[in-house]
Amino acid sequence: MKIETIAIHAGNKIDEHSKAVIQPISLSTTYQRAADGSYPEGFIYSRIDNPNRKSLENVIARLEQGPDACAFSSGNAAAAALFQSLPRGSHIIAPDDMYHGLRTQLLQVFEGVLEVDFVDMSDIAKVRQLIRPETKLIWIETPSNPLLKVCDVLSLVVLAKSRGILTACDNTFSTPIFQLPLNLGCDFVMHSTTKYLSGHSDVLGGVLVTAVKDSMWDKIRAIQVLGGAVPAPFDCYMTVRGIKTLPYRMRGHYENAVLIARFLEKSSFVEKVYYPGLETHPGHDIAKNQMSSFGGMLSFLVRGGADEAIKVVNAFKVFTQATSLGGVESLVEHRASVEGPATKTPQNLIRVSVGLENISDLIEDLENAFKAID
Ligand SMILES: *Cc1c(COP(=O)(O)O)cnc(C)c1O
Repeated sequence: MKIETIAIHAGNKIDEHSKAVIQPISLSTTYQRAADGSYPEGFIYSRIDNPNRKSLENVIARLEQGPDACAFSSGNAAAAALFQSLPRGSHIIAPDDMYHGLRTQLLQVFEGVLEVDFVDMSDIAKVRQLIRPETKLIWIETPSNPLLKVCDVLSLVVLAKSRGILTACDNTFSTPIFQLPLNLGCDFVMHSTTKYLSGHSDVLGGVLVTAVKDSMWDKIRAIQVLGGAVPAPFDCYMTVRGIKTLPYRMRGHYENAVLIARFLEKSSFVEKVYYPGLETHPGHDIAKNQMSSFGGMLSFLVRGGADEAIKVVNAFKVFTQATSLGGVESLVEHRASVEGPATKTPQNLIRVSVGLENISDLIEDLENAFKAID
């Protein structure tokens, strides 16, 4: 089956009793036992498993081409489960522009438990230098947030495998429609399903997909079930619903993003555009090799400083000024003020989550917003 068909059918189960075409939301927390003590459908208690979560895990595993997935109540909870499964004292190498919330998680929640080094992962020599005997995991995020840096997944995987190190890829920006990290040799894929997978900015969730079902995966499953950071049946239903249109939405996000990137590149109000689909982007060739398309996220530097960037984000009428990404509505964000005084993000950077509105309305909105700094 092809990806559009999987997206529509692999997360759905026609109800055996009512024949409802769309799988109902099973809110029950507990399941009836048969006389012989067995559980006829395999469900016992909804923290352990439930029909909606099973369907969600099934469709995402199929899309990422892995044998199994674990769904969590947020992307951060999914990543935390993987970090928790590592032995105490393990060393992790992560990108210097790792998703801000996960970088903070590693530094604050796992302080004293795990050791982390952050590095520019587009420079493989620097990654190699940081490897030590305790290094257990290389965390990959490509394209990265918010600078859309691209790293070479295949080379990182080859390096990691040669040293017995695991690799995990945060595939939130690309989605399985545009990038398949397990096929590139990664051991795990992580998603914030809050973003493109659910796609409508109305449900929080996360998932891990594994390349093999081994003892580490059993431990991750135990962390999901016993740790209990599981998504509610309603949230699973919403995410499955969103995934059905994922392949078509991603094409639309890409079509609009590439046109906006080209428009920004020519604008006299813009200093620099970060979009891996532009031939001028330093990671363009690698992105072309490992992705089937370049996605819907981009960033740009406004001519000027923080004041000019804030004036521009305040002037939009179609783009909404808000954090997050991956919804059908276009969002803009002044990242530096979100990340606080310690940020390395340029003060004149604006991050854009390109939505599915008509492209002429989006371009017109950009033209109008730039008048605020003319
Ligand atoms: C949002 C996001 C996360 C965290 O996911 P939550 O669902 O907010 O917990 C992790 N990585 C990336 C790239 C994200 O965009």
